[in-house]
Amino acid sequence: MKVICIGRNYADHAKEMKSELPSEPIFFLKPDTALLKDVDEFYLPDLNSEIHFECELVVKINKAGKNIDAEFAQKYYSEITLGLDLTARDLQAKCKEKGLPWEIAKAFDNSAPISNKWINVADISLPDLSFQFFQNGELKQHGFTKDMIFSIDTIISYVSKFITLKTGDLIFTGTPAGVGPIQIGDKLEGFVEENKLFEFTVK
Ligand code: MG
Repeated sequence: MKVICIGRNYADHAKEMKSELPSEPIFFLKPDTALLKDVDEFYLPDLNSEIHFECELVVKINKAGKNIDAEFAQKYYSEITLGLDLTARDLQAKCKEKGLPWEIAKAFDNSAPISNKWINVADISLPDLSFQFFQNGELKQHGFTKDMIFSIDTIISYVSKFITLKTGDLIFTGTPAGVGPIQIGDKLEGFVEENKLFEFTVK
């Protein structure tokens, strides 16, 4: 399986990163070794870099597809969850400055912790969903799907033009504003509406 991540999908986050708004979805990949699931704690990666949280809605692909029309994209997923696109921010800044790929900043081991709880999209209103991220009890990110620049269906259609999607692939759909560094000892909690989807302790 693969993990596909969308960049700059919320205008307020693009602004805080001093990045331009994209006219087409921006995506990058993390390998399966980035995925961290069924855990309630993880170690702060030892990369000599500030590691930032980016809380994101995550879509699980349930059927293989290529060149998927956005109109039919809903047939390719039925569950979503919440995860963290952990980012070595100063390494990423160096990559951006030199025009280099982002893998060292984004694709490292355990850079994609996700909740083990899944929400059936039939049970929610996906176009009007909110999610929240708390660091040590303090609200840091509050995202609304209506603020996504590119919808999940548009993302699936766009990515599948380039890369065949397969069952079990995960798509991180971008982060809203409020990203910041995590520290050892932090308690990180993520909610979709009122439901707590994860609580991670950073070791
Ligand atoms: Mg991200």
